[in-house]
Amino acid sequence: MNNFRIGYGYDVHALGDGLRLVLGGVEIPHEKGCIAHSDGDVLIHALCDALLGAVAAGDIGMHFPDTSDEFRGIDSRILLRRVCGIVRGRGYEIGNADCTVAMQRPKLRPYIDAMRGEIAKAMSVDTDSISVKATTTERLGFEGEERGVSATAAVLVFKNK
Ligand code: MG
Repeated sequence: MNNFRIGYGYDVHALGDGLRLVLGGVEIPHEKGCIAHSDGDVLIHALCDALLGAVAAGDIGMHFPDTSDEFRGIDSRILLRRVCGIVRGRGYEIGNADCTVAMQRPKLRPYIDAMRGEIAKAMSVDTDSISVKATTTERLGFEGEERGVSATAAVLVFKNK
């Protein structure tokens, strides 16, 4: 009997002029990027929180405090790899992840497969197990006004016993 657990994550970052925009481990050419202590990869942060939530292991801010110099400007793929280590350390395998980024501009479609590949590599899972979707918010709210980016993620983890 499989012992399944699900996790859900949500993250938001404000956008600032002239900063790097990194989503799903992929740098995207744009005139704005996420204001953050780390590289501001809102998609990976939501995914980390979903994974931690699935095993009730707290949240990303607890494990990687934004007051720590260790995590200043850090590549969020490193955080994701560590979070997967926490999940596997508790005896769970990672099933799949389904993520959505909400951003008005630029169009993310051309970068989706590269993001899936980077995320899968950091998590040591097949690319088929990782879904990344993008939506605008029809110019509504902070995403639509291009003041920020949000991301959600759902994951399934399981134990074979
Ligand atoms: Mg974040």
